[in-house]
Amino acid sequence: SELLSAAATRLKPSATNTTSQKARDLKAQGRDIVALSAGEPDFPTPENVIAAAIEAMKAGHTKYAPVAGIPELKQAVRDKFSNDNGLDYADDEVMVSTGGKQVIANAMMATIDEGDEVIIPAPYWVSYPELVAFCGGTPVVVQAEATTGFLLTAEDLEAAITPRTKWVILNSPCNPSGAVYSRDVLERIAGVLERHPRIHVLSDDIYEHLIYSDTAFSTLAEVAPQLKSRVLTMNGVSKAYAMTGWRIGYCGGPAHLIKAMSKIQGQTTSGANSIAQWAAVAALTGPQDFLAERRASFRERRDLVVGMLREADGLECLVPDGAFYVYPGCTGTFGKTTKGGRKIESDQDFSEALLEEQGVAVVYGAAFGLPGHFRVSYASSEAQLRDACMRITTFCNGLS
Ligand code: PLP
Repeated sequence: SELLSAAATRLKPSATNTTSQKARDLKAQGRDIVALSAGEPDFPTPENVIAAAIEAMKAGHTKYAPVAGIPELKQAVRDKFSNDNGLDYADDEVMVSTGGKQVIANAMMATIDEGDEVIIPAPYWVSYPELVAFCGGTPVVVQAEATTGFLLTAEDLEAAITPRTKWVILNSPCNPSGAVYSRDVLERIAGVLERHPRIHVLSDDIYEHLIYSDTAFSTLAEVAPQLKSRVLTMNGVSKAYAMTGWRIGYCGGPAHLIKAMSKIQGQTTSGANSIAQWAAVAALTGPQDFLAERRASFRERRDLVVGMLREADGLECLVPDGAFYVYPGCTGTFGKTTKGGRKIESDQDFSEALLEEQGVAVVYGAAFGLPGHFRVSYASSEAQLRDACMRITTFCNGLS
């Protein structure tokens, strides 16, 4: 249409949202559906966080908030970075946005010109390449296969760099693979980046607290302090504190970048929701012991899902170290036919047939840039996970 901009036309709808919507539609038609497609914890927001929000409303914190965040939350963010990650940021080096997603959008809008390249390891979170392309940039996708544990190698990074490379996006623990970048791996990546002083790095740490292996969480600016002035460290309360609907994300980075991002935010959305910011202060400064409990519960569910999926014919499943996703390979089912007579030639065929014939919603891997896989979110009850994995096994073992 003449109305729509080239940028809007370029933008693809999120496959994660589309799949979740399809699952809801089928449910509404009365079908028995188990949706393992959503990217949010099934736990409730902690009580102390909810109490802080109510308190904030009663105290009249209901007006425009400062663009880069209320001072109390900026201080809580600085303390968090310092205590958890050994990163000391000044007040003008941190900022609060409407979700981690807006941090990334601000950063891309503040820096990307036509033709600038952004290196994105696949499988990736669906919004990275879309935001880059929306801003006129070129996503440069580098495959991080199961054979390397879904981790970007230093060699592959080096090979993807050109004079137009502006950013590299790292996401650990990774959505959708659950891969975690160890200190070692990050040091090797830092070694490459040291030789390319123009390149900046977006470190998406939103799943920081969801790690189940012995690999401790590390973030690039901490591992490689010499790179700190060109790293944007992004995090948020959505995943760790089960606050996806509150829409609070934050970041630390060089003051000149933060200033440009604030300018954009000031002209688009203004400061993030004032009440949610007070809630986020409570999340970051309140009791943290429930994190360990929830982590233990997620780990049990991960083990359950991996154990059950390994029984399914044609699937290959690595044990992910973090986040709440597993990313099984399904190429072993290609060329086969389902009970319902559908031929499987791709991960998309696999996922569609699984939803139609067994009522399990998962997200196909091509949407994450690494085909031949699909994403299962295990942020669901144990009963639902058992039910879903049984159905997946029935589906796979019934292929001929
Ligand atoms: N980064 C990753 C890898 C994610 O999976 C998500 C949410 O799905 C986000 C960022 C954005 O989170 P939010 O905008 O809710 O803070």
